[in-house]
Amino acid sequence: MTGRARLARQARRGVLVALCALLGVAEARSQDAAVVEDIVTGSRVLAEFGVLDGFGHVSARDPANPNHFLMARSLAPALVTSGDIMEFDLDGNAVDAKGRSVFLERFIHSEIYKARPDVMAVVHTHSPGVIPFTVSQVALRPVFHNAAFLAAGTPVWDIRKEFGETDMLVRNAEIGRTLAAALGDKAVVLMRGHGDAAVGPSVKVAVFRAYYTDVNARLQSQAIALGGEVNYLTAAEGAKADAINLQVLDRVWNLWKMRVAAQGK
Ligand code: MN
Repeated sequence: MTGRARLARQARRGVLVALCALLGVAEARSQDAAVVEDIVTGSRVLAEFGVLDGFGHVSARDPANPNHFLMARSLAPALVTSGDIMEFDLDGNAVDAKGRSVFLERFIHSEIYKARPDVMAVVHTHSPGVIPFTVSQVALRPVFHNAAFLAAGTPVWDIRKEFGETDMLVRNAEIGRTLAAALGDKAVVLMRGHGDAAVGPSVKVAVFRAYYTDVNARLQSQAIALGGEVNYLTAAEGAKADAINLQVLDRVWNLWKMRVAAQGK
């Protein structure tokens, strides 16, 4: 090969490399990297703590487009990586599925984002601690300060009320709409015989709430088992404690992140 031909080949390769780099940047920009990372961390953290198992999901509203949200393709939360995060519109349609399978219950997320402009993240769990409170007449109420957000109220949504005897899944927008309506302006809605959905102004807050909803439910069951009257946090205590919790959230988030970081992404 002549020197000129080699130079020409190197130039072509250089252009190709530059083009690939540009395309790579464009793709990274289409999804907010920090939010994607938080979804991955949150999914793994909640799986690590047994709040999520093979089921459940964490999503975030797209910071660049409030009419879209980001969530993983259909797979177990412990296995979620940044490459699994897909983009959906608020009707639950994947923007570019690329052949990937999607969660059946994505309508939990899409309808809550539609109904609640303040919500930037949603977590859906089947957390074992919470299930008894979805079928009991005993309301889930805060027994300690970390779960202070529960003091605002914990509505229980019953799919049977409007849809009769179903497979219990939020499998379409119509069902999702009634769930979002039941959530109202609260942080958590319990789902009868199924689980819960926790929301927040960020992925960190929604994950924090999903986790402490489960912890509180277990502790409340223990407090009830002790017998006698349970002395719950009041609404005013709840509001004050919740404000502080939101301020110190990064401490627990960084700890959780460190714990799952060792697992690789
Ligand atoms: Mn579910």
